[in-house]
This record gives sequence, structure tokens and C-alpha cells, in this order.
Amino acid sequence: MILFKKAESLSRYLSQQKNEGVQIGFVPTMGALHQGHISLIEAAKKENRLTVCSIFVNPTQFNNSSDFQHYPVTTDKDIEKLLAAGCDVLFLPLAEEIYPPGFLARHYDLGSLETVLEGHYRPGHFQGVCQVIERLLEIVQPNRLYLGAKDFQQVKVITRLLHLLGKQDEIAVRMEPTLRENDGLAMSSRNLRLSAEQRALAPVIYTVLSSIKEKYKAGNKSLPQLEEQAASELEKNGFAVDYLQIRDADTLLSPTADSKHIVVLTAAALGEIRLIDNLPLN
Ligand code: AMP
Repeated sequence: MILFKKAESLSRYLSQQKNEGVQIGFVPTMGALHQGHISLIEAAKKENRLTVCSIFVNPTQFNNSSDFQHYPVTTDKDIEKLLAAGCDVLFLPLAEEIYPPGFLARHYDLGSLETVLEGHYRPGHFQGVCQVIERLLEIVQPNRLYLGAKDFQQVKVITRLLHLLGKQDEIAVRMEPTLRENDGLAMSSRNLRLSAEQRALAPVIYTVLSSIKEKYKAGNKSLPQLEEQAASELEKNGFAVDYLQIRDADTLLSPTADSKHIVVLTAAALGEIRLIDNLPLN
């Protein structure tokens, strides 16, 4: 694995590779890597000659400064995991490589994606995600971009970003399934910050999402009732629920008679640790 810290040298190396016909798969991350991240590396390796992973804890996507300050950093272990997974290139930039002096943040028109669910509860978050992803894509110029369904709304936002940038035909988005612990908890870097007591409660999120799925499949289509029951189950277990919503998976708005794909999405906190998860219902 080749480690790059400088955007310019990475770009130079990757454009040489592309000129030789090498296809590039890209996995952007914020580090504290777990098997969920590694599954994206594995998916990229299957389809591309060269797999690039970036680790950058992007300050502009944190709407909560305590969350940013406490975001876990485990670089040595991350490098070991990437080596074991056979990742070809790691980009580990300092902030000034991503946001050079004079960098001007611009505004991305994300429509309702920016005002619903995560967008509502984390103002500015998706603007920050678009900033970092636009810059990383400019540096890496991948053929394929690998993203986790765990951050479902983020996949929608980045897909829209590619359209805004006119790059939708140049870069394919691959959404990979959410990897879970044995007890159902979606793997997440933030799980490292849960206390033992909170860790024991955290899988309740998956239990309530799965129970909605079962009821939905069994014919209970009273969505507000399903949402309320599940949210109150989470609250009974000590979660502070931001939202638990059943949505059209394409628009992330309330389902209509025409909705083809339905998904339930939730964000709920145990103490300071805010967890998100989602499950397709059909
Ligand atoms: P992050 O480091 O949290 O920014 O995540 C980097 C990428 O890994 C994003 O595309 C996430 O959606 C994806 N990811 C995070 N957790 C999981 C998981 N449990 N399963 C699959 N992908 C994940």
C-alpha cells in the first residue's frame, strides 16, 4: 500500500495510472475503521485494478464541535486493517491539503434532502459532506465511488452532488449494505465511544427497525402508528429520539401511492452518542 499525504502527489500518481487504463475505486472515510469500511474496500477491489481509501475527519461536516473533538482517531490500527484488506493506496491528508488557503466554500442546492431527517437535525452537515467529497473527487478522479447504506441519506446527497457537478456519467456510485455486529448494532466508528451500559442498549435500534419491517410485511401499513410504537420503545430504553420515520427511499419524503421502495430511518442518542440506522421495508 502506498501512503500519500499530499493531494498533488496523489493526483499525479493516479492520473498516470488512469492514462495506463487502470480503473480506480474510491472509499472515502473518516477513519476509526471497522469491518463496515473494510467491506467497501473489498467491494472496490472486486471491480477495480486500484483501490484508494482516504482517511480525513472533515471538520466542515460536524455541526457539533464536541462530536468533532471526540471523534475517534486510530490511525495505526487503520493502516494495519487496510494492509490486511489489500488496499492499494491510502490518502491521509492534513486539513490544508483539502482546504488550501483561499479555499472558498460554495453552496450546493440539495433541495429537500437538506431539510429532512439528518439535514434537519444537523444543519450544515450535508454542505460539509459535499465540500469534502467534491474536493476528494477532484483529487482522486475515481471511476467508482463506494458508499455505505448505513448513511442512506448521505448516499442520496452524494448522488445528487455528482449530478450538480455533471459527473454522474463519469463516476458510478455503489451503495454497499450495512454491516452489523452479531447483536444487530450497525457498525460505526462512534460505537467506540459507547459505555458498556450504552453498548448493551444500542442493539435495541435494530430490534425496533426489524420489528417495523416484520409488521409492515405482515400487512400493517399504518405508518404513523408503526413509527410511534417504535419511537416509544426506543425512549423506554433510554434513547433520546431525533426521528424515526418511514419514508420513500427515493425521495426521503413521506411515501405516496406511487412509492416503490420504502425505508425506515432513525437517529437516536444514548447520552452524548448519537446513532443512526435504517432498514429497507420492501
Ligand atoms: P465514515 O468513516 O463514518 O465517514 O464512513 C465511511 C464510509 O463507510 C461511508 O460510506 C459509510 O456509509 C460507510 N459505513 C459506515 N459504517 C458502515 C457499516 N456499518 N456498513 C457499511 N458501510 C458503512
